[in-house]
Amino acid sequence: MSGYFKEIFDGGKSLLVGLGITFKQMIQPVVTERYPRTAPKMPPRYRGHIDLVRDEEGNNKCIACGMCQRNCPTGCITIKGEKPEGAKKKVLTFYRLDFTTCSLCGICVESCPTDALEFSKEYNLAGYSAGDFVFDLLKRCEERRR
Ligand code: SF4
Ligand code: SF4
Repeated sequence: MSGYFKEIFDGGKSLLVGLGITFKQMIQPVVTERYPRTAPKMPPRYRGHIDLVRDEEGNNKCIACGMCQRNCPTGCITIKGEKPEGAKKKVLTFYRLDFTTCSLCGICVESCPTDALEFSKEYNLAGYSAGDFVFDLLKRCEERRR
């Protein structure tokens, strides 16, 4: 008979322990995300592909010095710039990133003298061919102005 009551006691105890764990989890902060319905917030140090940084007026901060292009170990940056007539500074006219060979090393971001580059928060890139990962960063920068 005592074994019968012991089983009831053990069953009740185990039920209460299980419910305790469930209630404890219910009041913990939610760690899962409703992706893809909700876009995840990427951490500050996340490295997506590089992007051009805009100044307060919305213009890109690049002075077309070519430092990023020269320093990139995999040669995935191609830039072009020109000096408009009468202007003192060069203006960026073309900025292409071949993301298929980028190692996200960050040398371009670190070597830019005007802090004109940053890592984007892009996290879900997908495409059908390698060409889908060749980006016109100047165009992207101008589109973000709108
Ligand atoms: S992160 Fe590195 S590999 Fe990628 S574009 Fe910049 S310098 Fe090149
Ligand atoms: S290093 Fe900076 S300023 Fe120079 S071309 Fe690259 S992005 Fe532009």
